[in-house]
Amino acid sequence: MTSASSRCKRPLTTLVVATLNRGKARELVRLLAGWPFTIELLADRPGATLPEETGATYRDNALLKARAAAQQTGALSLADDSGLEVDALAGAPGVRSARYGGPGLDDAGRVARLLEALRAVPDAQRTARFRAVVAMVAPSGEEQVAEGVVEGVITREPRGAGGFGYDPVFFYPSLGATFGELPDEQKDRVSHRAVAVRALRAPLEQNA
Ligand code: IMP
Repeated sequence: MTSASSRCKRPLTTLVVATLNRGKARELVRLLAGWPFTIELLADRPGATLPEETGATYRDNALLKARAAAQQTGALSLADDSGLEVDALAGAPGVRSARYGGPGLDDAGRVARLLEALRAVPDAQRTARFRAVVAMVAPSGEEQVAEGVVEGVITREPRGAGGFGYDPVFFYPSLGATFGELPDEQKDRVSHRAVAVRALRAPLEQNA
């Protein structure tokens, strides 16, 4: 990974958020507030596409998406690849979290599938973590990557209507609530995505 200081000196004005997942896009836009760029969503550009996530790792997939967006738009682009790692499932669904249970399932369907897979797992063994890798790619090809992790426990029932994906079953012990129950600003202080985005921003600030 090259240091951001060599990359961010020129006056880049637009940062494209390369995701077609609306829940993730909403979070990334909130987390990028205050960055020295105009934030645009790839999803708002007519005809925008992203490649299939064929990478074996979060890092591969985040770079795949950010590179594709930088190439399509000619702008600095940021993508996140993330997932839920459940210890009792040997780290699954992991990098396949968005596809868990097969095609045709929505977020609620994937959550139901996960709870069913964990039905016989006792509370003490329901530990899990969200992991996010965020990649930022400039049209010149310069790249930066950062990772964030947050530890939690999988509940027995969904709780809360906030967030997206597996948030209603991801219990965060320090705040005594699932991510689905937390107001956005509280999830944004502690989430895997927030940790990764903050780690990307630190070199930009040092360079300002
Ligand atoms: P991908 O990064 O597009 O492969 O999708 C990651 C998948 O992981 C999402 O579709 C969600 O199912 C799950 N996921 C990642 N981050 C979160 C989160 O913050 N809350 C809930 N689910 C998440």
